[in-house]
Amino acid sequence: MENQSQFYKSLLDNLYDGVYFVDTERKITYWNKGAETITGYTAEQVMDKFCRDNILNHCTENGEELCLHNCPLTKSIQSGTHVEAEVFLHHADGHRVPVLVRTSPIIEDGKVIGAVEIFSNSSRLISARRQAQRMESMALQDALTGLSNRRAGETRLAAMLLEFQQIKQPFALLYADIDHFKQVNDRFGHDIGDRVLYMIAQTLKHNLRQNDLVCRWGGEEFVAMIRDVSEESMQQVALKLLALTERARLDLKDQEVSVTISIGATLSRAEDTLDEITRRADALMYESKNNGRNRATFG
Ligand code: GH3
Ligand code: MG
Ligand code: MG
Repeated sequence: MENQSQFYKSLLDNLYDGVYFVDTERKITYWNKGAETITGYTAEQVMDKFCRDNILNHCTENGEELCLHNCPLTKSIQSGTHVEAEVFLHHADGHRVPVLVRTSPIIEDGKVIGAVEIFSNSSRLISARRQAQRMESMALQDALTGLSNRRAGETRLAAMLLEFQQIKQPFALLYADIDHFKQVNDRFGHDIGDRVLYMIAQTLKHNLRQNDLVCRWGGEEFVAMIRDVSEESMQQVALKLLALTERARLDLKDQEVSVTISIGATLSRAEDTLDEITRRADALMYESKNNGRNRATFG
């Protein structure tokens, strides 16, 4: 028996993770080597102390102290369940270390007699997660305009079509293409062209509602999806965007650059697919081009 508990002790001691046990009063009864390495506190320093005595002082990323009101160990002891949390503990040297904490109740004869906390240094985990978030937003965002890219737009459109089939409340798809944009590049250069693209993207974005989505569909083409609309409100939105775009202006040293857009806009229909509704809006946009540009066509 003695041999067996020695075996478990050396097993726990040699874990890279920090492990410690507390009784129901949260008095520390075991502290492994991993815990020493991660926290800087030796077993000698913490054994028989209460963890609420402000040793580790777990807090959240907002600085909220967990020890008194939201302690994962207390939760495990009181509820008899496992708890997982990302917290920041106090290192013996004073700094804060991000850790991933998992606590479980220790149960003997059906009664909770304490809890165990296992924690690992999560700096690498956190930075990997941030990197993943950054990559995800890069994958869905257009770098030049900051709008959602076409992929994000198509995903949202597919979701909106599905929702429409269920709730029958139509949405509007608005397709906008900058007029004579090639001339802007030819006259002012590609960099100014890029700034104009950004200006138009921002004009569209800031003049739609929060719930609507506008994305950069292609070079100088944008697609907006507008919720909770009627034929009439769709037309109002399109006319507003035409007017505001025409009045957006890039001030260069000795001149101003403005452009107009041509719009095609349509309400979703029962039989629509992603291709069908975008093709229809695109065709309507071309009608606007053929009829003189800087206008909207509805259908
Ligand atoms: P229309 O009124 O018929 O739409 O004429 P247009 O000149 O806008 O149409 P066209 O499709 O011939 O030209 C689109 C231009 O948009 C050509 C391309 O160089 C430019 N363009 C596409 N993407 C970018 C970009 O990211 N930056 C810049 N500066 N120009 C771009
Ligand atoms: Mg185009
Ligand atoms: Mg164009």
